[in-house]
Amino acid sequence: MVDRADTCAKKDGRKAMWNRELETLDRSSLEKLQMKKLEKTLESALRTRYYSRVFSDHGIDVARFRSIKDIAALPFTAKDDLRLSYPDGMCAVPRAEVVRMHASSGTTGKSTVIFYTMKDINDWAELVARCMVASGATREDVFQNMMGYGLFTGGLGLHYGAERLGCMVIPSAAGNTLRQIQLMKDFGTTIIHITPSYALHLGDEVSAQGVDPRELAVRKAYLGAEPYSEATRDKIENQWGLDAYNSYGLSEMNGPGVAFECIEKRGMHVWEDYYYIEIIDPVSGRPLPDGDEGELVITHLNREAMPVIRYRTRDLTAVIPGPCPCGRSHRRIERIKGRTDDMLIIGGVNVFPSQIETVLMKVPEVGNNYQIVLDRRENLDRIHIKVELYSKMFRGDLKELDNLKSRLARELQALIVVTPRIELLEPGSLEPSTGKAVRVIDSRKI
Ligand code: AMP
Ligand code: ZN
Repeated sequence: MVDRADTCAKKDGRKAMWNRELETLDRSSLEKLQMKKLEKTLESALRTRYYSRVFSDHGIDVARFRSIKDIAALPFTAKDDLRLSYPDGMCAVPRAEVVRMHASSGTTGKSTVIFYTMKDINDWAELVARCMVASGATREDVFQNMMGYGLFTGGLGLHYGAERLGCMVIPSAAGNTLRQIQLMKDFGTTIIHITPSYALHLGDEVSAQGVDPRELAVRKAYLGAEPYSEATRDKIENQWGLDAYNSYGLSEMNGPGVAFECIEKRGMHVWEDYYYIEIIDPVSGRPLPDGDEGELVITHLNREAMPVIRYRTRDLTAVIPGPCPCGRSHRRIERIKGRTDDMLIIGGVNVFPSQIETVLMKVPEVGNNYQIVLDRRENLDRIHIKVELYSKMFRGDLKELDNLKSRLARELQALIVVTPRIELLEPGSLEPSTGKAVRVIDSRKI
């Protein structure tokens, strides 16, 4: 197989890129390319029942669009619009041209369906190959894909890109921890694709077998599918002795491969020749400048089977201003802080679970799993945080436990105002998750 990952790179000392021409395209050419692709996308959108109706209701004349910025005249698409178009109101091609469907994991309700033509699948693999090369992966790598295969896009999404790059792929899927460990040992896995919560659990299980995870051949982890903090990344990197790269995607936009960290690990590059991004104020819907945090809105500029325009992801992030030292011209976004619908209002104060996680994971005595339980008594919100301890750090002295509890309560109170009740648990007491972790139980809603 031809090694496409910029074979010249090593000779002149440049870092490898999968598609140097597109990844380094100057901004004005990139915007022109986006506009060209938007025109095609709008044509195909008009072939769907959903967008032909919406565009006509809003009196939109796509022939008038002159620049990519004109996209702001189009209405947003919300998750509910996809649900209401179930099963195929947003499909732009005849059924015979569709080669695959996926469905979102239904993080927030009923799942939504996405269709792909062969070209869509092919393009997706190209984007994932770009992501992997950006993180320093090569065809020499052994890639163990521990994400769910099936309707969820996490497994198959990375799978085809890793094959395109030429890695040896181990499609081990999520779960079956003992088998995962065996495969890692026997086949010298160098890259794992895994949810952050499962990475911590798996690391513990490797240690429980008397093996230091750092001694395995694993050198990179691709972490995604759920929000997590920088402190959790640090923890995983230390536990495994690897570099962890943030990987972002959502089924409505194909799945993983939308945005990914390069070896600089300073934000995720969004592949802007495929995705047009905007950051908006989640309440007013108004656009926000680079650097300001808001809701990410994405338009897929390259999809045949299912165009999705100005999709409100509900994910909160900011565009990082300025260029990345890696030389790619595509802009970067910050780590996802959470989803607009994840935000907890505790005693009138807005908090994201990821902020609570940041406080917890910075404390060395805290182990790998936690859970936030909310309830309400006499109209007052109460927060109860179950925290697993880190076995090696904790020596079991009662006084020490009490000190740790008060310290955590103090640090968290600075963030959430309400004093949390802290419950310390032995390592392994909370149910580990192999897919997206459920961190919050909000019984106020029941
Ligand atoms: P799904 O479409 O079911 O795969 O879920 C996609 C959602 O998972 C996104 O909209 C995000 O809320 C979340 N997600 C995916 N990757 C990340 C990531 N790297 N960091 C934070 N959240 C993520
Ligand atoms: Zn970069």
